[in-house]
Amino acid sequence: MDRAIHDRDKATNQAKAIRKQSSKITSDLMSADATVNRLRAERNDLRRVVSELRGGVESLNLKQIDKVEMELTAALKNVGKVKERKVKEALVTEEEKRMCVVCQTEVKSVLLMPCRHMCLCKDCSRNNAMDKCPLCRVKITQKIDVFA
Ligand SMILES: [Zn+2]
Ligand SMILES: [Zn+2]
Repeated sequence: MDRAIHDRDKATNQAKAIRKQSSKITSDLMSADATVNRLRAERNDLRRVVSELRGGVESLNLKQIDKVEMELTAALKNVGKVKERKVKEALVTEEEKRMCVVCQTEVKSVLLMPCRHMCLCKDCSRNNAMDKCPLCRVKITQKIDVFA
């Protein structure tokens, strides 16, 4: 008898858990739907702005022009942000290219022979253990200080 009650309680709990899970799935689906709808609305907004611009701002009333201006300003701000980020990334890459591949703190200034790789700073190139080019592993026969 106790066993039957126990089983029934267990089943009830399982049913509760399943119900909870399914309501979570439903709410997840709803928020995914909302995201899709928002993106769709944004895309439609953009399309409308573009078609309004194509038709010429001249034909719009002041309120519509205000809205177009607002949307363009927001879009431009976003473009500006992306541009700023990309410029920074490019600068970092350039800086990395300038830096010695070993220490990453000094500027590359030594040309290695015979491979002609310029990848080391003066200090790192003077290290006697540095007998092979760190880029191509060719044995170094000469180290030429380019800025000397
Ligand atoms: Zn170095
Ligand atoms: Zn090399």
